Parts: sequence; C-alpha cells; structure tokens
Amino acid sequence: MSFPTKPILNDLFHRKAAVSLDFLIVGGSIGGLACAYNLKQAGHNVRVLERSSGPGNAIGGLRVPPNMTKLLLHWGLGDRLVKAGIRCPRIEMLDSENGNFLSELVFHEVVMKELQAENYGVTYADIYGIIHDITVASGVQIEYNCEVVDVDVEEREVRLASGEILKADLIVGADGATSTVRERMVGLQENHKAGPFTGYTYTIPVSRMKEDPELQVFLEEKGVWKVFMGNNTCALTFMAGPDQYAIQLIMSEPSASHSWSKPIDLAPVVANFDDYDERVKRLLRLGTQAVETRHVIQEHLEDWFSDDGHVVLLGDAAHNLNPGTSHGSALAMEDAAVLGSLFSRLRTRDPDEILQLLAAYQEIREGRCVEVTRTEYETVAFSVLPKDNPMRVERDAGFAASRQMKVLDWENLDDPFLQRIWEQFKCSFGYEAYDAADDWWVDWGIMRERMKASSMAVSDGSGSSPKDMTFSFSQSLDPTLDPLSTSP
Ligand SMILES: Cc1cc2nc3c(=O)[nH]c(=O)nc-3n(C[C@H](O)[C@H](O)[C@H](O)COP(=O)(O)OP(=O)(O)OC[C@H]3O[C@@H](n4cnc5c(N)ncnc54)[C@H](O)[C@@H]3O)c2cc1C
Repeated sequence: MSFPTKPILNDLFHRKAAVSLDFLIVGGSIGGLACAYNLKQAGHNVRVLERSSGPGNAIGGLRVPPNMTKLLLHWGLGDRLVKAGIRCPRIEMLDSENGNFLSELVFHEVVMKELQAENYGVTYADIYGIIHDITVASGVQIEYNCEVVDVDVEEREVRLASGEILKADLIVGADGATSTVRERMVGLQENHKAGPFTGYTYTIPVSRMKEDPELQVFLEEKGVWKVFMGNNTCALTFMAGPDQYAIQLIMSEPSASHSWSKPIDLAPVVANFDDYDERVKRLLRLGTQAVETRHVIQEHLEDWFSDDGHVVLLGDAAHNLNPGTSHGSALAMEDAAVLGSLFSRLRTRDPDEILQLLAAYQEIREGRCVEVTRTEYETVAFSVLPKDNPMRVERDAGFAASRQMKVLDWENLDDPFLQRIWEQFKCSFGYEAYDAADDWWVDWGIMRERMKASSMAVSDGSGSSPKDMTFSFSQSLDPTLDPLSTSP
C-alpha cells in the first residue's frame, strides 16, 4: 500500500456522512484531537473543548508503535513524524544494577516491511503539534481554557466553568483517565483505585548528555529503546527526537497523584534508583522535574456510550493503561479512526442508527483494548520483578538461554517469555484500525442496511427493528482478563 505524502485535509474516507451531526469533544489531547480530525473528515461539525491553555509545559516522550505510525501515514503525516522522531531498530533489556545485556527484541527489516510502519521515539509536544496542525487545518474549532464542569446526558448539554451551556447531537468524552464525562454518563462518582505502578516522565537535552563521556553509550546506536529492569522498579530510556532524550521511571508510590501537566521535583524520585548502574544514575540525574502519573484503575464499564446515544467515551476515558506503556496514545488514535470511519457511513439522524454505530464502535474496539491493557500490564510487571521472586529467576534464565542460542528468529524462539513478548508485539503492532471498521461494515453494516430496507418494504410488523441488531459486547470479553491478575 502506498500512503499519501501530503496531509489529508479533506476526504480521508472517500465518502462523507449523508447528514452532518454536531459533535462536542471534551478534551483536546491526542485522543480528542484525533477524534475531531476523523469526525470532521467523515463530514460532521466538530468543536473541541480543552481545559488547558495548550500542551504548554508537557515534558515527556512518547514511544509510537507501528499501529499508531500507520494512522499518521494514512493522514499523510509520515514526513512530519520522520522529521520529529527517531526510528527505533530494537529494544534492549538490561540489568539495572550493572547495565549488563539481558536480551533484545530486534525489529527485523522483513517484519517491519510486512507491518508497513516503524516504531518512533518522539516528544509528546511534537506529536501533539503534528496532530493539532492537521486537525485545525481541516477546519475543526479547538477552544482552550475551556473546562467542562458538568454534562447533562439527556439534554445533550455541557456546562463550562464560565457558566456557558453548549448543546450538541453527540458529546465525546476524551477527557482522560479521570474523565468527568464518564462520571456523568455512568451517573456515579467513580472510585478510582490506585494500581501498583506510578510513572515519572521527562526529557533531557541531548546536548547535556554529550557533555558527559560516560553517557555516550546511550547515544551510540541511535534510536535503541533501553529497558533497565530493576528490583521493584524499571527505567525506560529512548531518544525522543534529534535533540531530546526521554526517560520513563516506573516504581511504586502509594501517595502519588495523577497529572500529565504538573511537574514535580525529581530528586526524591531518583533516590529510589540508587541501586542502578552508575551511568544510568548519571543520566537520570540530568533531569530536575518530571510529571507524575499514577496508575488509575477505572471501574468496569459495561457500555462505552449512554443508552440514549447522546454520549460516547474514547481513549483513556474509556480504557486507561498503566504507566510505562507505549500504547496509550495508539489505542486512543485507533478509537478515533474507528469512530470516524463508522460515522462517515451515517445516513440519517435516526437515533437507532446512531446507537448502532456506537454499538459497533465498542464491539470493534473493546476486545482489543482489554487485551492490550492486559499484555502491557504484564510487560511492565515482568520488568520490575523483585529479586526474590521466582518468576524473575525464570525470566533471566530464559534471557540467558536465548543469548546462548544467539537467536534472532523470534518466530521460532523457545523461550516462553520472549516468545510471549513477540506474540504480543505482532498482535499489537499489526492492528489496522480502518480495516477493522471496514470489516465490521462488510460483515454487519451492509446486512443491517439490507434488513432495514426489506423490513420497510414488507412492513408486516414481524421484521426485526434496527435496534435488535445491537450487539452484546460482553460476549467478546473473557471476564478473567483482569489486568491485575498477574502480581508483579
Ligand atoms: C499535557 C499532556 C502530556 C502528556 N505527556 C505524555 C508523555 O510524555 N508520554 C506519554 O506516554 N503520555 C503522555 N500523555 C498521555 C497521553 O496523551 C494519553 O495517555 C494518551 O494519548 C490517550 O490520550 P487521551 O486524549 O485519551 O487522554 P489525555 O492525554 O489524558 O487527555 C485528556 C485531555 O482532556 C482534558 N480535560 C480533562 N478534563 C477536562 C474537562 N473537564 N474539560 C475540558 N478538558 C478536559 C485534559 O486537559 C487533557 O488535555 C500526556 C497527556 C497530556 C494531557
């Protein structure tokens, strides 16, 4: 497949909805902007309400997996990503205490060719800027300093902190892990439990690293993502652009707060990494501030949209991942792509048709999000195994065996841990959001349209109504897939 080389500002889907709905999107981070762009391309009127004044002091780095890269390629943003980011050829797993090599995951050329997209390290600010620019250029209105304080689901209204009330056909909650829209939709104050991991994210100028000869090891092979596996902690490090190096620290901090925009003092955090290799400690200490993100475990959500089809959730508001994952933004963008694709097929303002598209959105997305949430949790849990945990011994024995074999053939690897990582990568990385939406349409959407047409023609009172075709989401889920079922 060849991808467009210029930003697609119109006609991404080569079709538009027959009617234009008014969407209000609450939250203008990566999920909200990606959703706005896709819905605009689908032919709808979109307005984004964001409480901050912009990305402002965002100070972290993002790992962009191929499934997210591919969406940017579809939107014609490949050049901007390549310019802003650094391609990752492999991930190294290292012993935190001495920096010794444990194992690696090589992104072989042949596999990446198959996936048609690469991994990139990039800063949050850069990726935000890229998505923001195409969203604005395609005609979406983004309002900053605009906090939504209440949502009246039945009336399809949001109330802003200024007191102003705005109305829409559909309200999208893209307001993050502790979403207000989600709470109003569920109708209860949510009790967000804290998970075992807290993340600390920041970047360091590469120029500062160049001043220290001991730190050249981090810059030698450009783009390699390093995972220092410690004792109840881990440190992920990667280049996030030509002049920025990103750090993500994972540890347990029961009193942590959750904010992507409130920098905190880094010194007390880095003190927890004192048993790390000297070079890693020197690297970590180059930073002075980080954002602290608590692992927020949301309550189980039966439906991602309200019964009346007035509100729908997306990104972290629907399915929040643990800190240290590379899939948070990717899943939010996939949600946006699927929702946009489905709503580009909207024919009428009939509430039943809208409900069916929302049901299809959840049907397509929920199973994948549950699975990625589980595997991302496991990957971090395996990276922070305490020294006395037998699973750590098993993990390191597997790494040693794979080193001896000098295996680069991931498909035929014997070690179950590495094999599992590879399986997860293949599944996660190979996902095609637009194909998933198109497949649903071919399997179910067309059939639904035919049934609707024939029931209108026959009109004998015994045909199934469109609402009968709303699917049972829970059937696609294995209820035992509790992200916390594996203790670290
Ligand atoms: C400023 C910022 C920096 C980030 N930096 C990183 C990073 O360096 N590395 C990383 O891996 N991830 C980072 N993230 C998180 C990452 O963007 C998400 O995990 C992922 O992209 C899913 O995005 P989301 O849009 O669903 O949620 P979020 O990114 O959490 O965005 C939610 C948005 O909703 C807005 N919002 C919340 N409540 C309201 C309200 N009541 N009214 C109006 N607006 C509201 C928030 O200000 C925010 O912009 C960052 C997020 C933000 C907001």
